[in-house]
Amino acid sequence: MEGRFATGKAWILDRGSGSGRGSGRTLEEAFDLESERLKAFIEDSPVPEVFSAHLEMLEDQLLRDTILRNVSGGMVPVDAVIAAEDEIMGLFLGIDDEYLRSRVDDVRDVCQGLIDCLEGASPNSYESLPPDAVVVAEELFPSDTAMMDLDKVKAFVTAKGSPTSHVRVIARSRGIPAVTGADISGIRSGDLLLVDEANGTVEVNPTEERLEAVRSMNRGVSVFPEEARRAVLDSGVKVLGNAGSIKEIEAVIGAGAEGIGLFRTEFLFLGSDNLPSEEEQYQIYKKAVEACQGRPLTIRTMDIGGDKTVPCLNLPKEDNPFLGMRGIRLSLSMPELFKEQIRAILRASALGKVRIMLPMVSRVSEVIQAKALVKECEASLEASGTAFGKNIEIGVMIETPAAAFVADLLACETDFFSVGTNDLTQYVMAADRGNASVSYLLDPLDDAMIQALRIVFKAAREKGVPAGVCGEAASEPKVAPVLCEMGADSLSLGSPALIGELKGSD
Ligand code: PEP
Ligand code: MG
Repeated sequence: MEGRFATGKAWILDRGSGSGRGSGRTLEEAFDLESERLKAFIEDSPVPEVFSAHLEMLEDQLLRDTILRNVSGGMVPVDAVIAAEDEIMGLFLGIDDEYLRSRVDDVRDVCQGLIDCLEGASPNSYESLPPDAVVVAEELFPSDTAMMDLDKVKAFVTAKGSPTSHVRVIARSRGIPAVTGADISGIRSGDLLLVDEANGTVEVNPTEERLEAVRSMNRGVSVFPEEARRAVLDSGVKVLGNAGSIKEIEAVIGAGAEGIGLFRTEFLFLGSDNLPSEEEQYQIYKKAVEACQGRPLTIRTMDIGGDKTVPCLNLPKEDNPFLGMRGIRLSLSMPELFKEQIRAILRASALGKVRIMLPMVSRVSEVIQAKALVKECEASLEASGTAFGKNIEIGVMIETPAAAFVADLLACETDFFSVGTNDLTQYVMAADRGNASVSYLLDPLDDAMIQALRIVFKAAREKGVPAGVCGEAASEPKVAPVLCEMGADSLSLGSPALIGELKGSD
């Protein structure tokens, strides 16, 4: 880690999709390649049966015939595979047979493998990630980072995205510099890259003199200028940390955070093939409580949806996922899954100070429904004699304009607010946080945002509800003092380095 810049060798993630750089492989070659890959996995994997099932699916005549029929109908091979995948999955899901329904995931995985082979992406690409890599991609999703060994990543460079896209948020929490919205067309695999997050630039094959100049320019430079730091600390605001894993909790607490203002639990769901059970979640939340060493832990219930997809949930594809079944909407639509998470959180709350936080709220009724489920879970734990913390605090994230407008009503039903400026800015400004072309609109201090924040902090003040900020704006030296002045009682920062700098020695 070299501050907000890093150097490393370019490692290009070539999914093929949209890049126009297909491999030129024929369908038969793709079938052969995928078959070889699966056979290798069967030999090496501790769970060979998973890959045997995939191989069986690959060799299934129905899949091959459907793809070939689509090709004879005029489709290009990749489209033929996608159409076959949809058709066969629809077929399996429509049959009242548990076994066939359970094979839907196999169809999806095998078809994705075939598409990767056709488009040229190395299907086991993450396993070949070398150390000290600068990962270069058209676009990266949270599920990509969940599959990567982030210890090997020096920096991320993507063509799409903005400073608040999830890849940037994840990168920051791990101290990995990232530049989004970059021109990646001239980058070749193995090029030495100088990635400067602060200036949003990527230099290809810089000279040693240039590298030394940047190193010396950055030596001892603090991101939080003293004036901003003083303004924040003098306001008496609590400095908390954001985290998506136990490792990240340890890092922010180690850096001096007074607690965790946002534990993003959906990351527990993203990287796995199976949904974590109540017990598995409990074990993680227990470790999270322990890692907080007596400080408060705010557990956000799963914010699945948007760009955070969980394949094993088999959710229908949405045209506008950021405006769709995301966060609390999805949780309320799957009450059994939601209750497993709530029970796990409640059990962990017997071990320390835990708060529940609901994401993507837009109406008071969502909070009322969620609270009813919490009550139901408390009653079932009580009945079974399982320990849990009594009177757990339940708060909401203010990240939709609707929530901001009804902040006074929400305040009557909640114990705290946490403003998610990443989403609030995207929804107030109608500017996709993953779209580099409109990232100029993603200004948390835009006039419209100031109006929204005023409504929220005023309602919080009048109703006596503490309101913090856990979006990336809390980490911005120009914005943090403004948030404190407006009434934020806590700032939850996404980077241990920044927390260390802010809290550092006086
Ligand atoms: C936010 O929207 O500001 C936030 C903190 O949540 P996430 O970035 O996980 O969407
Ligand atoms: Mg959000």
